[in-house]
Amino acid sequence: MTLEENLAKPLVISCAITGSITTREQHPGLPVTPAEIAASAIEAGAAGAAAVHIHVREDDGTPSCRGELYEEVFQRIRAQSDVVICGTTGSGGGRFSPEGRFAALHYKPDLASFDAGSLNFGERVFENSPSFLRQLAHEITSRGIVPEIECFDIGQIGNAVRLQPEGLLPGPGGKWWFQFCLGVRGGAPSDTQTLLTMRSLIPHGAEWSVLGIGRGQLAMNMVAILEGGHVRTGMEDNVYFRRGQLVDGNGQFVERVVQLAREVGRPVATPAQARELMGCPSKAVASAARN
Ligand code: ZN
Repeated sequence: MTLEENLAKPLVISCAITGSITTREQHPGLPVTPAEIAASAIEAGAAGAAAVHIHVREDDGTPSCRGELYEEVFQRIRAQSDVVICGTTGSGGGRFSPEGRFAALHYKPDLASFDAGSLNFGERVFENSPSFLRQLAHEITSRGIVPEIECFDIGQIGNAVRLQPEGLLPGPGGKWWFQFCLGVRGGAPSDTQTLLTMRSLIPHGAEWSVLGIGRGQLAMNMVAILEGGHVRTGMEDNVYFRRGQLVDGNGQFVERVVQLAREVGRPVATPAQARELMGCPSKAVASAARN
């Protein structure tokens, strides 16, 4: 791809609203309740995010996988925004059972995270065995949901690609949508060389996005804008707008990415364009399927 081609492609901005690790001690404005998470997601969408990545919490901030919380967040977002909704299937820091990890899928998000392997994650082990990955792929794609293939390390790309001959991935639209998750302690670092190496290993024509943890967030956003990828920002991955300055909220992160894209002339994708790139069923079809 030439630079011209990269800059002509609509840029999908995903915003990860709250995650399961960031705390109110780190940022007093972290969205926690369903109303706060939904309001922040709607704000991110209004600022230019085409997609929002959703975890839910109990009111005291504890990571949760209660279905009612997902249901409330998704309903509140859908009432006011057409952003692509990505539900997490993460482990809540090892708290959730396999069934708990599938909770968001019952409320038909457009997209669901698919963590493509195990790794040391800070001081814990994020466990995603081969048999669990097969089950997870089935749980996601059999509901017509597109898997967002989260790769925290280089070998995880192969873990996902190897499921294609088994018919388990990539998903309903037949398109691959990767999210490279760089900078976790225990995973691949957030640097340009690592990112481009990982890109070289995904199937031809696959779309990719990248997130960088902490200080890597903005840098990885910038590389992806130039290289024809897509970006994830948000308070799940970082709470600082710049060194020593907490971000106002998720909208401020999104606004900066929109500004960067504008500076180099790259268009920002609408939710409809994002669904097309990801291989999601169109919104009308998806909502008919929900009824
Ligand atoms: Zn997440």
